[in-house]
Amino acid sequence: IFITFEGIDGSGKSTQSKLLAKTLADQGVDVIITREPGGSVGAEDIRKLLVEGETDRWSPETEILLFTAARRDHLEKTIRPALANGTVVISDRFADSTRVYQGVARADLRKTVDALHDTIIKVEPDLTFIIDVDPEQALTRGLARNSGEDRFEDFGLQFQMDLRAGFLALASENENRCRVIDGNRPIDAIASDVLSIAKAAIG
Ligand code: C5P
Repeated sequence: IFITFEGIDGSGKSTQSKLLAKTLADQGVDVIITREPGGSVGAEDIRKLLVEGETDRWSPETEILLFTAARRDHLEKTIRPALANGTVVISDRFADSTRVYQGVARADLRKTVDALHDTIIKVEPDLTFIIDVDPEQALTRGLARNSGEDRFEDFGLQFQMDLRAGFLALASENENRCRVIDGNRPIDAIASDVLSIAKAAIG
């Protein structure tokens, strides 16, 4: 089973994906945690190309191609082999991030994103947690831990609001696999909701 976590920067999705992986592993479930952009040796190399450098380093189209190339390598080298082995795969971001970040919020390139997904990636998660938080709060958290090395991190509030709207729209278009989780709560309250939904899906 393939589980993904999505949400805006500072939503707490990385914390929640790690907590879920640890709790499942502690309960004897065979599980791996991975992330995007990255998650395989080649995709981590592409991640560096994506996140380092000037904000306008890549055009939106080139950026989509790089994200897709990284995702394809991640799929081939990490996700598919693990799923074939019966391992639960938890990924911090996947294709929904590209649909929202590149397809809605940065430029109206959703058709390009979808066409590439349909030909190069094809895979959808079985279950997607969309960690939904107040964009203002997320921005404060994000700025507090900003390393200054990620060219994506100097976004304003309006951009975070657009991203949030994009994730919520995606969730309602994909109700079969998406669960919107209220992320404006204590970490363990969120984690316990996530765990019960994940366990029901794993069976
Ligand atoms: O989730 P993480 O912080 O590792 O993502 C790295 C950066 O890449 C973030 O600042 C995120 O906003 C950005 N990103 C993006 N488009 C994606 C995935 C991530 O702009 N499809």
